[in-house]
Amino acid sequence: MCEKCFDKEIFKFESESDFIAFEKSLNQKAKFLKLINSKHEYLNDFHYTYTCENCKQNWWLSIPDNAWRGYFLTEKNAEDHIKNIRSSDKKKKNGCLILLAFFFIIVMISLMNSCVGSSQKFDKIKWNEREDGFYLYREEMIGDLTENYLKKGTTYKKIISLLGAPQNLNDEIERTISYELMTDYGWDIDPVEVKTLKIKISKDSTQNSFKIEHWKKQ
Ligand SMILES: [Zn+2]
Repeated sequence: MCEKCFDKEIFKFESESDFIAFEKSLNQKAKFLKLINSKHEYLNDFHYTYTCENCKQNWWLSIPDNAWRGYFLTEKNAEDHIKNIRSSDKKKKNGCLILLAFFFIIVMISLMNSCVGSSQKFDKIKWNEREDGFYLYREEMIGDLTENYLKKGTTYKKIISLLGAPQNLNDEIERTISYELMTDYGWDIDPVEVKTLKIKISKDSTQNSFKIEHWKKQ
């Protein structure tokens, strides 16, 4: 650094006019400040290297380009400057990757949830909703139903008012009422999988116990 080249460094050109003013003074100092060839690994197409014939200082010029604000620095500071920029870029990149990983995990979890079938609150009307003969919500509601409604001692009347008339099959054992939860026919005429809710009623017409029968064709 000397009065023949520049006595201060520019870490970034704030504006286009800033850079034009700099270029002007660079031209004025061309007598001492000479463009040299440098094959430094950090230098790319938008970089120029100058050397001051008076003080022997090497200068690096990076031309601003769009968002990139360029710089005019002594060789050592330019190297440090580029190193800093590269490591902060790397950090940003890593931050993005971590964010992306999080996003991916969240998407996977919500996908898994939608595959397993989310549980939902028991709803008397939804309980009987069906499409093409299949109950739409019974399996999803069974958790809430058995946990919060089917308590020991619940009266038969109350159960019927909640779940409707029993769907007992002919071979039902005595004092047991059953409700179809799901039936899967696969590609067959006969079911390949059936889930049934079976509620045992005691002699005093209150609920004694319940179980979920799960039958699957072998
Ligand atoms: Zn100089």
